[in-house]
Amino acid sequence: MDRVPSPSGKSPDRYADAWRKGAWVSWVLLLTGVVPAFLIWHRWFGSRTIVLTYHKITDDFETTPEIVVTPITFRKQIRFIRALGTFVTPSRCLDLPARKGMRFVITFDDGYEDNYTNALPVLREATAPAAIFLISSQIGNEGFLDAGQIDEMQSHGIEFGAHTVSHPRLADLDRDGCELEVRQSVQEVEAVVGRRCTLFAYPYGKPEQVGEIAPEVVSNAGVELAFTTINGPITAECDAVRLPRIGIRECSLVTFAARISGVFESRAMRFLKR
Ligand SMILES: [Zn+2]
Repeated sequence: MDRVPSPSGKSPDRYADAWRKGAWVSWVLLLTGVVPAFLIWHRWFGSRTIVLTYHKITDDFETTPEIVVTPITFRKQIRFIRALGTFVTPSRCLDLPARKGMRFVITFDDGYEDNYTNALPVLREATAPAAIFLISSQIGNEGFLDAGQIDEMQSHGIEFGAHTVSHPRLADLDRDGCELEVRQSVQEVEAVVGRRCTLFAYPYGKPEQVGEIAPEVVSNAGVELAFTTINGPITAECDAVRLPRIGIRECSLVTFAARISGVFESRAMRFLKR
């Protein structure tokens, strides 16, 4: 969609600013050994499941640079996490891990056509499952996935979920409006994919944009797992209809490593960010 603000809900400028600062901090955390220590801990001694949020995989930064990752960067990131841990099918992300280590769930919001042209080849190369959350009114429109592409992607292990009909902030709607957006999108996604739609992602996804009603409406619509953009790992305490994710945008592998290491969610970093 044309006007998708930054996944964080901040204005694009502030969001870019936060990532620029994060890039510097990431280098410091790498060189001081903090990020390697976090990764080594999760890889060999701990257990960590994270869901990554992508949008567009393209070289075109023209319209919405804050939601773009280039195909080259995407391939590097997927190869990096394949070396570091295992991929988990999105619909199985709450299953208890069989063994220790890092587990990654790949998701894409909005259903852009470049997910088929640019992301699918990389995912196939790594045999990585993923989920794509479709804005149902956009299916088949220019720049978005069509039914044929969705069908082909399903045959390669890609799951599809709903992302509302028109991408509103659900918190701004009353119950009727919210139900319409959720139920209709779930039905439209089911019609296209030919199976039950049990996955959902909230547009924008921060608590104040999701609101109180939407998780209940989503649950009543038959959705089993719903994803926000609240930062954090998947844990046993997670609410299945308010699952956290980690947003990814174009960045160096150093910043990416810091993002997935969990260092930014640590108590010390949260204190420093205040
Ligand atoms: Zn979206």
